[in-house]
Amino acid sequence: KYHEQLVELKGNIRVLCRVKPVLKEDQQDEGQAVVVTTDPNNESALTVMSKGKGRTFELDKVFHPQATQDEVFQEIEPLVTSCIDGYHVCIFAYGQTGSGKTYTMEGTVENPGINQRALKHLFSEIEDRKDMWSYSISVSSVEIYNEILRDLLTARSWAQGHEVRSFQHIKKILAVARRNRITFGTQMNQHSSRSHALLTITVLGTDLATGAKTTGKLNLVDLAGSERVWKSGAEGERLKEAQNINRSLLALGDVIQALRGRQTHIPFRNSRLTYLLQDSLGKGNKTAMVVQISSLERNVGETLCSLKFAQRVC
Ligand code: ADP
Ligand code: MG
Repeated sequence: KYHEQLVELKGNIRVLCRVKPVLKEDQQDEGQAVVVTTDPNNESALTVMSKGKGRTFELDKVFHPQATQDEVFQEIEPLVTSCIDGYHVCIFAYGQTGSGKTYTMEGTVENPGINQRALKHLFSEIEDRKDMWSYSISVSSVEIYNEILRDLLTARSWAQGHEVRSFQHIKKILAVARRNRITFGTQMNQHSSRSHALLTITVLGTDLATGAKTTGKLNLVDLAGSERVWKSGAEGERLKEAQNINRSLLALGDVIQALRGRQTHIPFRNSRLTYLLQDSLGKGNKTAMVVQISSLERNVGETLCSLKFAQRVC
């Protein structure tokens, strides 16, 4: 209930930040000092040290480096539940490559992320309501690379919904999407960090007594890396990619900012991503943005950029 109130209060958009723990492989000689500190007494603030100065950022919620996948999901769970009631929900992971976006959304075999937890939660909620409602769930999964859409489940260029019967069934479907993304990726170095991956779950409900229908939608989005590669002298294809990523992330920021304000014109058409999500991002829907950051000194420039993005939509 507290979350529901908060969601209403914040205009249905919540901005969360997750600080990635320092892993063994992150420990190089240079720039390994930790410059991000979270505050145990204030779970909506963090401080970044840069050039001898501390900058504090306020967000809806900050996850410290040791936060578990379960703690992150608990924040998201009310949004997932609301899909069953017919809401359209978007959950984004934003941040530079390596900051933990895929870890948060997909997770690992031992520590599954939001995608699997959300689906598991949906199936168990539906089971609880089965005396009064009947539901059908379908999923689609697409990737947007260079403003071109590709279906990750059928390898076609448009997206198709697949009806799913159980949590086990959906695990198989997610594995197909992951495999297709990897296969496509081998044609190009680091492909997955330059494309957006979307998993869309549609929940159709029928009230068994009255026949009334609801359509809820859950969009789970692992965004392309937000790093500013065009500043490093990228050329040709690499520059085009970078510009497309930059444009679509900016367009997303613009849309969220417009939804926050009183504007009546929401600029959905400025990118493939926002165009595709327009029926889920509009007013009356719910959005959570998980901004992923590194706590290391060598990434501080990108960290500040990501936090500025978060603040802009916050
Ligand atoms: P991104 O998708 O933003 O490029 P990844 O999710 O692939 O980043 O994360 C980079 C590496 O760090 C991966 O090996 C991932 O498993 C690991 N990692 C990220 N976040 C965490 C975390 N909270 N706990 C443990 N390992 C993490
Ligand atoms: Mg990734």
